[in-house]
Amino acid sequence: MTKDPVCGMMVDVKTAPAKVEYKGRTFYFCSTGCKSFFQENPEKYAKDEMTGHQGHH
Ligand SMILES: [Zn+2]
Repeated sequence: MTKDPVCGMMVDVKTAPAKVEYKGRTFYFCSTGCKSFFQENPEKYAKDEMTGHQGHH
């Protein structure tokens, strides 16, 4: 499981309907809609995902 960086939902990497590779990392999304949001502003969402690792694991 990984987190959809756009809406914050947990997504199963095996069944995720959409994914994007960005800067060497793969991001998974709950829907193609969230993927579109990410692609419009990848910098914002990728950064958010990277700093969001402190509270939980
Ligand atoms: Zn989503």
